[in-house]
Amino acid sequence: MDLKELKSNWFNEFSQPLMIAGPCSAESESQMLETARRIKETHAEVPVFRAGIWKPRTKPNGFEGVGVIGLNWLKKVKEEYGFKTATEVANAHHVFAALEADVDILWIGARSTVNPFTIQEIAMALKGTDKPVFVKNPVNPDLALWNGALERLLGQDIKKLGVIHRGFSTYQKTKYRNNPNWQIALDFKSQFPDIPMLIDPSHICGNRTGLADVTQEALNVGYQGAMIETHSNPDEAWSDAAQQITPEVLATLISNLKVRNTDVAGFEKDMGRHRTLISDLDFQLIELLSQRMKISEKIGKLKKENDIAIFQPERWKVIREYAEQKAVETGMSKEFIEKLFKAIHEESIEVQNNIMIDR
Ligand code: PEP
Ligand code: MN
Repeated sequence: MDLKELKSNWFNEFSQPLMIAGPCSAESESQMLETARRIKETHAEVPVFRAGIWKPRTKPNGFEGVGVIGLNWLKKVKEEYGFKTATEVANAHHVFAALEADVDILWIGARSTVNPFTIQEIAMALKGTDKPVFVKNPVNPDLALWNGALERLLGQDIKKLGVIHRGFSTYQKTKYRNNPNWQIALDFKSQFPDIPMLIDPSHICGNRTGLADVTQEALNVGYQGAMIETHSNPDEAWSDAAQQITPEVLATLISNLKVRNTDVAGFEKDMGRHRTLISDLDFQLIELLSQRMKISEKIGKLKKENDIAIFQPERWKVIREYAEQKAVETGMSKEFIEKLFKAIHEESIEVQNNIMIDR
C-alpha cells in the first residue's frame, strides 16, 4: 500500500481542529493531575493530554524523563478527567511499555525521525496495534526522511498515521527555536492531503509569545490541529520552561483561534498558503541581508586597517552589472533591482563608515 492511499477516517473521531495539550515532561503525579484538571476546568476543547515520559535531551546529565512510572499518571489523567492520552516513543521498549499502559496515541519525536534504524525498530514494535501514531518532522529539513518514516510504519501495517510539524534546526540564530520552513510541511501536505497534519508551535517558537500566531498561521493553511505544551507551573518546568503556558493561557489562545472551514473555496486556502510562503521568504531575505551586512563590516575593517577609501567605484560597477544581469535572467525589472541594490549598497557604506569613525 502506498502512503497516498491512506485514509484518515480514524481522525474523524476527534473534534477538529484536534487540540493536544499537556506538559513537555511528566514530572510528578500532582503536576500531571493539576495540569489536566485545570485544562478541563477551562472547558476548552482539548480531547488529548500529552506528556513526555522519556525525554531526548540535547546534552547529558539533564532531566531525561521520569520513565515508566509516568505512564501510571497518564492513566490517572485518563480515568479522572476523561482525556485520551499521548506520549513519545523512541525505541521498542518505550512502545511496549506505552502499549501495555494503554496510552491512546503515540508520537515519534524529531530526533527519532532522522534515524531509519530507530524508525524501523519502532515500526516493528508497533506491528499489530491500531493506535494512531503521529510522526514529527525530522530535526533537519529533509522531506524524504519524513516520508520514509511514514513508509516504514505503513510497511508494518500501521495505518492510523498523522504528522506533526515542529520546525527544523538551523545553525543560524533566528527568532524561532526551530525554523518553521513552511515550504517543507506544505510540500508534504500537497503530496499527502489525506494525512492529518498538526502544528507544534511550542517547539517552533521556543517561547510563549509566538504560539498564537504560528498556530493561526497553520490553521489558515489547512492544518487539522495543534499540540501545545501546557504546564501547571510553566516557569518551574523541568524541561522547556520558556515555551510552556498555563492551562488558562492555553484556553485563551484556543478561543482566539479562527478556525477555517476546510471546505471553503480554494481561494482562501491558496491565499493563506501563498502568504505563509511569502512570510517565510521575507524572513530568509532578512536573514541573508543581515549576513551580507556582517560581511560588509569585515570588509570595512580591512579597509580601515589598510587605509582604503570606503567607496570603490569599480566594485560598485561590478555589483550593478551582475545585479542587472540577474534581473534580466529572472524576469524582474532592471529598475527595481537597481533601486534595491542602491539601498543595500548605501546601507553597506553606512555600516563601513561607522567602523571608520569608531576607531
Ligand atoms: C516534545 O514534544 O516534547 C519533543 C521532545 O518534541 P520534538 O521531538 O519535536 O523535539
Ligand atoms: Mn518539549
